[in-house]
Amino acid sequence: MKPHPKQVLIGKFFKRKFQEFDDVDGSPNIGNDVQEQDDDDDDNFGLNIPSTSSPSILHTIDFNDLHSDPLDRPPIASYHPNQRDDIRRHYLVKKAFQPRNHNFPFKAYNGKPRRFNVEWFDKYPWLEYSINVDKAYCLCCYLFKETVGNQGGRYTFSTEGFCNWSKPCALKEHVGKVDSYHNKAMQKSDSC
Ligand SMILES: [Zn+2]
Repeated sequence: MKPHPKQVLIGKFFKRKFQEFDDVDGSPNIGNDVQEQDDDDDDNFGLNIPSTSSPSILHTIDFNDLHSDPLDRPPIASYHPNQRDDIRRHYLVKKAFQPRNHNFPFKAYNGKPRRFNVEWFDKYPWLEYSINVDKAYCLCCYLFKETVGNQGGRYTFSTEGFCNWSKPCALKEHVGKVDSYHNKAMQKSDSC
């Protein structure tokens, strides 16, 4: 079966990318991308893409291998749609990653040392902490940010991580009002 023209095009793109790294014959790589070749490689479209996860591919998931530290976790959207709810439930059962015995490092803010306060874990059950980067995250926003609409770039607690320990009021601000994105994500968590 002939590959779809678009697949051929994209397949050529990745092939060219790899040739740039491994250009053994020195032949110019810039050419007619649309021209079709009878390479067997075209049948392997997609396999060489340097990605650990693709939402279009249903990988077998070992839940024991899912990372606990927020920094290490891939976005939920990177998983196949049929697997996302199972992954969400797995994390909800495990609860937010709260390494209470960690020796939280100090940072200087206006000359004053500040660090993550372990008591925030008690106040905010959704709050997570990444030992890897000394930043705080929100579990339910990580799990449901794609399903509660556009946050207008406010991904501090779900993607970038929060680390201004001199402003713990930001935690309360993240919760926001009743109809905030965080509270919508919390509602999704409760009904998951
Ligand atoms: Zn949140």
